[in-house]
Amino acid sequence: MTPERYAKILRVLRLRQPTLSVLMDEVNKPHNLSAILRTCDAVGAMTAHAVPPASMSLGSFRSRMFEASSGSAHKWVNVQQHASALDAIRELQGQGVQVLATHLSQRSVDYRQPDYTRPTCVLLGAEKFGVSDEAAEAADANIIIPMMGMVQSLNVSVAAATILFEAQRQRLEAGMYAQPQLSDEELRRFAFRWAYP
Ligand code: SAM
Repeated sequence: MTPERYAKILRVLRLRQPTLSVLMDEVNKPHNLSAILRTCDAVGAMTAHAVPPASMSLGSFRSRMFEASSGSAHKWVNVQQHASALDAIRELQGQGVQVLATHLSQRSVDYRQPDYTRPTCVLLGAEKFGVSDEAAEAADANIIIPMMGMVQSLNVSVAAATILFEAQRQRLEAGMYAQPQLSDEELRRFAFRWAYP
């Protein structure tokens, strides 16, 4: 570990946003999982919650996540598995996190409307089926990126990036990247873990 590398680790950790995360509900294509993890790293989101697809054994999902993480983003973004989207939503809400479901419904609002400076988790749906109605209902809000073309939806990783960079924009404006969001103790702990994996 060179001093330059350690300085970079500290610099990046001081920009980390422990109160920003995603919940991937049965997202299953490795290139999408990988792209979402890379975007999480890019905006400083520390955790990607994941519900394995119902049709997939835990073992195959683990190897898919491993495959997805080959670009190394998994070293910098913690992947936390959950049994179901509803379990994950309730757990996050219990911690005071607002869950924003990317879902078209009667109550959907433009994705730029919510306050992303609050503890926030963005719920992303499976490539084929999207977010389930139950998960969308349990979420604090439903958000949508306006579509003006012939195609109805974006690729899930593109939607994730669009929304997470809006979160980054709001958090930059609010000065949340100017002050470390991790405590000194957390900074030390993560720096050690990243430096000596
Ligand atoms: N047939 C699915 C449906 O009706 O929901 C399409 C799913 S879409 C390909 C996969 C995921 O990408 C969605 O669940 C959502 O997370 C995200 N997504 C795609 N387009 C979006 C948009 N315009 N606004 C918000 N999220 C979007």
